[in-house]
Amino acid sequence: MTDKLLEGFENRFLPKAYGDDGALMPELVEYGQKPDYMIISCADSRADPGIIFDANPGVFFGFKAIGAIVRPYKEGTALAACLQFALHHLKVPKLYVVGHTHCGAVQALHDNTDDTDLASFMDVMHDAMEQARKITGHDNDEELLLREAERQVVNLSAKNLETYPAVREALDENRLIIERLIFDMSEGRMLRYNSQSGTYDPVTKGLAELKSSRHDDKCTC
Ligand SMILES: [Zn+2]
Repeated sequence: MTDKLLEGFENRFLPKAYGDDGALMPELVEYGQKPDYMIISCADSRADPGIIFDANPGVFFGFKAIGAIVRPYKEGTALAACLQFALHHLKVPKLYVVGHTHCGAVQALHDNTDDTDLASFMDVMHDAMEQARKITGHDNDEELLLREAERQVVNLSAKNLETYPAVREALDENRLIIERLIFDMSEGRMLRYNSQSGTYDPVTKGLAELKSSRHDDKCTC
């Protein structure tokens, strides 16, 4: 039986990272990692940051949680340890929280799931959902509310990050930038939080532009 993961490792990753044109992994093993980013992202199989950013090994230090949800600091959690390692020891300079549209976690939050583990992990995000309801108005359609809730969850997660000692230390020493991104899965583009306007604005070309530039490349008219 074919294993998709092992097949990908052997046939694509191995020649790319260790082959003649890519001595990347041997270098990273010899000199160690010095990632430019730490990325906190959702565990969704469609929004993996290594894939959507097409990032090579060594580029980012990763942490996943459903919904890219960051709960307030508590000593000894997986995220606290990860932030301590990335920010205090590796001195990673950029910390990104990457949410995405059509997020199952945000849908479950909206639906008030009674699944014990999901509900108790996400309970800190009720304020984000409430904020989304205020912004979109209670009579608006569910899709609109969910898109706004996905943004508000990332906003509250970014705010909660500041309760972590490793984050506070890096911010106090002026060596950390925190960014908030949303991967718009249907539009095929990345949105970034604009702290001036409080909105999420496109920072990459979307599918429409990609298609029209492909047309221009091919067009002989
Ligand atoms: Zn998600």
